[in-house]
Amino acid sequence: MAYSYDDQNIFARILRGEIPNQTVLESEHALAFRDIHPQAPEHVLVIPKGRYVTFDHFALEASAEEIVDFHRLAGQVCTLMGVQPGAGGLGYRTISNAGEHSAQEVPHYHVHILGGARWGRC
Ligand code: AMP
Repeated sequence: MAYSYDDQNIFARILRGEIPNQTVLESEHALAFRDIHPQAPEHVLVIPKGRYVTFDHFALEASAEEIVDFHRLAGQVCTLMGVQPGAGGLGYRTISNAGEHSAQEVPHYHVHILGGARWGRC
């Protein structure tokens, strides 16, 4: 079944500039901004600018250019957060909720980058 994208979701409205956000970084195809209800000392969301609902939707239907751009921006966010294990940082966790079982709240694909705290195994 094809995904249908809700153009009124809150991240679509952020991308159209209708709702303010605390931008961390932006690229041609992606935007990184602070989560409004942080679950860690550092909590940044990375979203593609395209109309994708979940990780699988993005992975299967986005262009190679969008996919590379999105991941490069997410990597740059890790650098800015100072959490890269390869650069002396203490690490981070990435999470992407998709659909009902994950309790995805916003139906626009996003990756949470959480840093500054230690989590148990999942
Ligand atoms: P998820 O459950 O993965 O869909 O998470 C959606 C996330 O978006 C939550 O962590 C919310 O705190 C966050 N969020 C919702 N509205 C906004 C907003 N206007 N600006 C920044 N983050 C938001």
